[in-house]
Amino acid sequence: MLFPEYQCPWQDDELRILRDAAARFFTQEFKPLNERWIAQGKVDRDAWTKAGAAGFLCAGIPAEYGGAGGDYRHETVVMEEMHRAGIGGFGYQVHSTIVAPYIYHYGTEAQRRRWLPGLATGELVGAIAMTEPNTGSDLQAVRTTALREGDQYVVNGAKTYITNGQHANLVIVVAKTDPAKGGKGISLVVVETDDNPGFKRGRNLRKLGMKAADTSELFFEDCRTPVDNLLGGEEGRGFVQLMQQLPAERLNIAQAAVVAMERAIEITLDFVKERKAFGQRVLDFQNTRFRLAECKSEALIARTFVDQCVQWLLEGRLDAATASMAKYWCTEKQCEIIDTCLQLHGGAGYMDEYEISRMYADARVQKIYGGTNEIMKELIGRSLG
Ligand SMILES: Cc1cc2nc3c(=O)[nH]c(=O)nc-3n(C[C@H](O)[C@H](O)[C@H](O)COP(=O)(O)OP(=O)(O)OC[C@H]3O[C@@H](n4cnc5c(N)ncnc54)[C@H](O)[C@@H]3O)c2cc1C
Repeated sequence: MLFPEYQCPWQDDELRILRDAAARFFTQEFKPLNERWIAQGKVDRDAWTKAGAAGFLCAGIPAEYGGAGGDYRHETVVMEEMHRAGIGGFGYQVHSTIVAPYIYHYGTEAQRRRWLPGLATGELVGAIAMTEPNTGSDLQAVRTTALREGDQYVVNGAKTYITNGQHANLVIVVAKTDPAKGGKGISLVVVETDDNPGFKRGRNLRKLGMKAADTSELFFEDCRTPVDNLLGGEEGRGFVQLMQQLPAERLNIAQAAVVAMERAIEITLDFVKERKAFGQRVLDFQNTRFRLAECKSEALIARTFVDQCVQWLLEGRLDAATASMAKYWCTEKQCEIIDTCLQLHGGAGYMDEYEISRMYADARVQKIYGGTNEIMKELIGRSLG
């Protein structure tokens, strides 16, 4: 425990029990498999049904749709404990904190009943496909189309860097249903991929870090999907739907960053207390104490800020600029703190067998996905007047 005195403003006894159960689950069930998942570049398919059976998927979705009946805090607690256990490759955040909430918030009643129970058991694995080979930050420039033909949409286009791309069988595709209207012609179309001949998975891309996460190319070639699969049933709502959900997605990334900071400092403290140089513990050098003092201060500042943001989110008051501040600042600090912690490990910090080395590689993407940190500063900048 890095901050034993700290009290999270939104945690209660029920969440404490959930936190302990999630910590046990990820440590006992997933951690022993992690090395193999890293080697194969993806988690096992049954990781999803195991997490579903244990009640950890869709923790924030009401029980009538198969979820655990909690809210954003429940999703957060599960996500934090997953990261604390070092399970960076399980695409829980995309599945449970992005895809399921999109269906819950924007889906018609029939869509909720059709897809949420499967997402909660893990029979369905969710992905969201926004990014394309030619556009990422500029979402309005997507070229994928979903054009109506009778009672079907015909989807054509290519997506890339899609988390859960190898396992997903329910993909929310950002596509233009009316290309002439630009951003106002964007819709979210749900593609069920099983036995769908127009859907093809491309490569599971090799990456710098997050090696157990499948990050893939997806192709849609005259991929037919029923008009009933238009999320919310109304064309042209996609861009607004994306913008409304982004603060929660960005806060989630910030929270993962804070867990990583805390974990990095904890394992580094263990290391520098053991490691000796010039006849003393590495911790006893003033430089080590000063650097770790800075790291610990920044981690606590980040922790209190993200927990306050969770509170604002629950009250419906988390705006885009504040969520962007959390995402940008916490992910920058995550990378800086992990770099400092790696340095304090000396050569060991560069070796795969030390957790800090993997954390260093995994951290880098946090400044890129979910909207790059440059885009975050653009959004914060707009609030300056
Ligand atoms: C591991 C991983 C997982 C991912 N998972 C998903 C996923 O599940 N689904 C999905 O849809 N996408 C996913 N992505 C894609 C990710 O969201 C994009 O890579 C990201 O949004 C950036 O888009 P881009 O790569 O096209 O970069 P670009 O938009 O081409 O940006 C290139 C550079 O230009 C800068 N830039 C762009 N516009 C501006 C501007 N207006 N002002 C200043 N600078 C600017 C950017 O900040 C960046 O530094 C994932 C990416 C990774 C690496």
